[in-house]
Amino acid sequence: TGLSSDERELVRRREKLLGPAYRLFYQKPVHLVRGEGVWLYDPAGERYLDVYNNVASVGHCNPRVVEALTRQASTLNTHTRYLHETILTYAERLQKKVPGELGHIMFTCTGSEANDLALRVTRAYTGRRGMIVTKLAYHGLTCAVSELSPSLGEYVERGPHVRLVPPPDSYRGEVDVGKAFATGVRAAIADMRANGIEPAALLVDTIFSSDGVFADPPGFLREAVEVIRAAGGLFIADEVQPGFGRVGPDFWGFARHGLVPDMVTVGKPMGNGHPMAGVFMKPHLVEEFGRKARYFNTFGGNPVACAVGLAVLDVIEGEGLPERARDVGDYMRAGLRDLAGRYEAIGDVRGAGQFTGLELVEDRASKAPAAALTTRIVNGLRERHVLISATGPGANILKIRPPLVFTREHADIFLDRMADVLKASV
Ligand code: PMP
Repeated sequence: TGLSSDERELVRRREKLLGPAYRLFYQKPVHLVRGEGVWLYDPAGERYLDVYNNVASVGHCNPRVVEALTRQASTLNTHTRYLHETILTYAERLQKKVPGELGHIMFTCTGSEANDLALRVTRAYTGRRGMIVTKLAYHGLTCAVSELSPSLGEYVERGPHVRLVPPPDSYRGEVDVGKAFATGVRAAIADMRANGIEPAALLVDTIFSSDGVFADPPGFLREAVEVIRAAGGLFIADEVQPGFGRVGPDFWGFARHGLVPDMVTVGKPMGNGHPMAGVFMKPHLVEEFGRKARYFNTFGGNPVACAVGLAVLDVIEGEGLPERARDVGDYMRAGLRDLAGRYEAIGDVRGAGQFTGLELVEDRASKAPAAALTTRIVNGLRERHVLISATGPGANILKIRPPLVFTREHADIFLDRMADVLKASV
């Protein structure tokens, strides 16, 4: 694999200590020791361009975030059972970012916990169990939520209450993706009911990251949401991937579709690497749950987390990052479409803001996924010090999702190296 003896030793210790469930990226793993902005550094000081990381969205080790974190950590860090003003200041700031109907926010530490809490609130409010998710969705790792994460593979049990629907695939699917998606949801509801299960909610990642990145046309989610609501179920938007400006000035994936969800789960970029997540919800949904259930999350919403969250919002707003995500994302997609003019293997380039899917195919007529080529490109980019990954059912869709502080100059570096790797790989 071309690893140094030190790196081979790290791999050996990992396997011995962490066990078999952990996976490394790349045939030749990357060893990182430092980050700054869009760059990550290995022990030799070599830098890698981060085109993968949607967590460090305001840049690795952003100084304003680090400063807010260290200041609060050296002042006080307790939990949500004492009065503390920062959590309220932060909640008010967050509230301004979502539609007014979503009047409460509850804080967790991970996106998995956020979806798990949304599931509990859904069950408590509706008294129902039926859940609808897309075929290759990922919503998290708890016992309950892993049942809603078919991308984890067949090994994970799904349970009789879960139905999978085809994603709104604008490349391989029907012309009217919204209608086709709603048809899938209708069929899922009918199938549940035929088995004595009532639909509780439709839960979707509004950019469909693990299904293959489907963003267009904006509004295509509306019909499916009408269908689930007409059946008495809720619509939950999982914004863990698209949220916080990644998809552009609309700020949220659901907003691009002109929707107001019943609940919205958020995480990843919320703390720029500090473990923070949460659930926005319409207040009536949680009234009874709140009376009966006590919710205490030891670390969720603590003063350090809230100070970090405020600093992240300050940077996102202060530096106009949603607008930059749109501008630089459009610029990157234009550059990638130029490459598609030269390389038949690029079947489709799609996305919104700084979230792009690039589909590699055997040929444009068959659209057959070119998985081996995709692996060569991902590893070839790694050799050229660009970090990226692939997704989708055919493992042939490059997921291009850099920190939002990415500039056109960074995009040019990426496009140059993409051109180089395509020349060497196809
Ligand atoms: N939802 C989506 C759409 C995700 O991509 C992820 C993480 N990949 C999660 C939920 C779970 O978040 P976490 O890893 O913070 O538990």
